[in-house]
Amino acid sequence: MSTSSSIENIIVGGGVIGLSIAYELAKRGRPVAVLEKDRFGRKASWAGAGILAPANGATANHPQEHLEALSHQFHEQWSSELKVLTGIDNGYQRCGGLYVARTAGEVASLTGLTVEWQQREILFEPVSEMELYRRWPLLFPAPESSSNEHQMIRKSIWVPGESQISNPHHLEALIVACRKLGVVMREGVQKAEIKCSKSKVNSVAVAGEVFMGENYFFAAGPWTEQLVAPNGIPLPMQPVRGQIALYRIALVGEPAGCWPIVNEGSRYLVPRRDGHVLAGATIEEVGFECRTTDDEIAELRTWAEGLSAALHESNYLKSWAGLRPGTYDGFAYLGRLGGLDNAFVATGHFKGGLQLSTATAVVMVDLAEGKTPAVDLAPFDPSRAQHYQSTDIK
Ligand SMILES: Cc1cc2nc3c(=O)[nH]c(=O)nc-3n(C[C@H](O)[C@H](O)[C@H](O)COP(=O)(O)OP(=O)(O)OC[C@H]3O[C@@H](n4cnc5c(N)ncnc54)[C@H](O)[C@@H]3O)c2cc1C
Repeated sequence: MSTSSSIENIIVGGGVIGLSIAYELAKRGRPVAVLEKDRFGRKASWAGAGILAPANGATANHPQEHLEALSHQFHEQWSSELKVLTGIDNGYQRCGGLYVARTAGEVASLTGLTVEWQQREILFEPVSEMELYRRWPLLFPAPESSSNEHQMIRKSIWVPGESQISNPHHLEALIVACRKLGVVMREGVQKAEIKCSKSKVNSVAVAGEVFMGENYFFAAGPWTEQLVAPNGIPLPMQPVRGQIALYRIALVGEPAGCWPIVNEGSRYLVPRRDGHVLAGATIEEVGFECRTTDDEIAELRTWAEGLSAALHESNYLKSWAGLRPGTYDGFAYLGRLGGLDNAFVATGHFKGGLQLSTATAVVMVDLAEGKTPAVDLAPFDPSRAQHYQSTDIK
């Protein structure tokens, strides 16, 4: 026999997107429940690297750029307020990013990137190879002190506006904050079933419990397609696996928190304040197979250890994988779902879900409250999925 609960807002999916929406609703004094199939924040949201790419709202043209800029602003604010509310430091830091190129092709694409930064008025400055050794000796030990053969860095650019959060700590802070603000949190829910009438959702039934609300938010990452499919709503999604290798550098003599994120092409090193360094990430379309593979991790490690002489066999710790929620056109799905008055979807953020989580939460709650969101959500409208060709994604 099922029990039933009536709560104004029901969220299905407890990753960074679902938890951020819950937090925003709770801050506005709205009753809310989050239903999570597994454990809160343990999928892509935990697996990600937490890079917050630089943004500039003043020069933003596309709504995507507006969403990025707004998120940046909120990350700084949320980090402080979460610390006050929960005592948890989510590791937000404006650590800056280094963009390096070792091949002619990389030099060309980095040069292209600087043109884009110029147009968007995102601050950057060239850094010489000698300066790398001088400013960040733990990441870039000078060649004579390194036993490895390293390919020369031909071009490197410093972007001070790049930031990071430690996503496991951020998720922990969101979970504690939601509990403190009275959010009903259910983990391990099975078989979520959306019950609809013609124009609205009436309830979400899970094994043993039925949740009835006024608004429903679906934020189940790459699984959102399967969640809404039984209701005849198309939401084509592509899980995109990413693998990460973890190292730890002994902190000797260098103050914590002063290392930049290092980007080379699509790969990066993300040093945390405590000496951990994440090397990521692969981009693989292998369905819902969420596991590490020896070949990909070996390749990632060869790249990381070739870039920074501080990383080697003896300080490699472990690896993991996560599934990014991809869409068929690269834009997230943010908006009303399936022509239903009280149903909203927020997913498909692909490589930027941690970065975009704060603004996503604010615009989605504004939308549900009948306010005009600060970002034009037209490019993110989930109803565009009706026009996709199945060959575009599967
Ligand atoms: C290796 C890697 C590196 C990344 N690096 C970055 C980065 O540096 N910066 C950045 O911004 N982003 C990064 N990302 C992307 C980012 O992690 C994702 O975009 C983001 O975590 C997506 O959040 P989500 O809440 O939509 O999805 P998820 O974290 O997948 O959460 C969805 C939740 O829904 C639950 N769920 C699924 N089905 C149901 C159901 N039927 N009922 C109830 N619950 C359900 C799942 O169990 C899960 O907990 C990275 C991702 C990976 C994998």
